[in-house]
Amino acid sequence: MEPEVITLAKQLIQKPSYTPDDAGCQPLLMNRLGGQGFQGEHHRFGEVDNVLMWHGNKPGPALMFLGHTDVVPPGEIEAWQHDPLSAHVEAGVLYGRGVADMKGSIAAMVLAMEKFVAENPNHAGKVALMLTSDEEGVAVDGVKKFMPMMAAKHHFDYCLVGEPSSSDVLGDTVRVGRRGSLHVNIKIKGKQGHVAYPQNARNPIFLAGKAIDELGQIQWDQGNDDFPPTSFQISTIKAGSGVANIIPGELEIIANFRYAPVSDQTSLAKQLEDILNRYQLNYELVWQLSGEPFHCQDEGFKQALAASIQSITGISPEFNTAGGTSDGRFVAPHGIATMELGPINKTIHQVNECEKISHLVQLENIYLDLIRRLLLP
Ligand SMILES: [Zn+2]
Repeated sequence: MEPEVITLAKQLIQKPSYTPDDAGCQPLLMNRLGGQGFQGEHHRFGEVDNVLMWHGNKPGPALMFLGHTDVVPPGEIEAWQHDPLSAHVEAGVLYGRGVADMKGSIAAMVLAMEKFVAENPNHAGKVALMLTSDEEGVAVDGVKKFMPMMAAKHHFDYCLVGEPSSSDVLGDTVRVGRRGSLHVNIKIKGKQGHVAYPQNARNPIFLAGKAIDELGQIQWDQGNDDFPPTSFQISTIKAGSGVANIIPGELEIIANFRYAPVSDQTSLAKQLEDILNRYQLNYELVWQLSGEPFHCQDEGFKQALAASIQSITGISPEFNTAGGTSDGRFVAPHGIATMELGPINKTIHQVNECEKISHLVQLENIYLDLIRRLLLP
């Protein structure tokens, strides 16, 4: 017989919830959990649906699962072996857009919470699930806006995000934080002129050259035990109008820092300005902080999750902070210990996205084991 977690994952995959359209995923889950005694609060901001569903109102530890119902578009439909919305099963593998990122995790979270509440209807503390329909997009009307509202009404100690953290086998990797992401736009000013009269011009390409070389080599910080050193990458350089006889007046650089919590915007800006000043450049900087870093330092939570993974899969997870940003960045600043554990990430955002049925069953069991460890005395 088909495991219940697969039946629910299929129901979610069959809904075309391309960002920011929830396409009925949240109402399906609200109805289902409402029938099990969960309470819920839904808010729609713009085109984005957000919901918190929770069970338990007694004092005690409180755990919130976090996920997103939206998925990225299917891409080249012809390249899919099966319709991305058909939730096709073949040889023990479930195929479909979002199965790994992250409708499979949502189904596992829902099943785990239902089973826990059925076994322990009068449990202490609280177990909850927060969902948004815009994690893959601009993520402005999702958890970023919803979390502060919910944090004012509910206290949570722990948050587990269901993003696909695993690499080769389920549970091999847990994210204990994410690097910060900081964009900077650098304008270097020269003086426009005719290429035949360089004495009357200042070429910003030559002016910027040595500074760019140094920016590619400096060590911004050392990182720490859980974080690699901060990296700086230039994605775009623009100068000139495309004609051969004009020295351009300006050069623009678009760059991004992925930074460890040992650095911040102030320390990185100072180092960047020091270099630009050393080469006596005339410049303007425009900064945009896209996500602050977060880092789970709650040893009890980390040990509980490692023990749950060990007891279900027999492996000890590696804790790291690799990957891009996630909605965890909007939860951790509320003083909530935040980690991420989910399916294998090899096929996410690709055609033929898939996950093993056995992995989703294991994931449900890990989530259930974790709720027991955290909430039961
Ligand atoms: Zn995701």
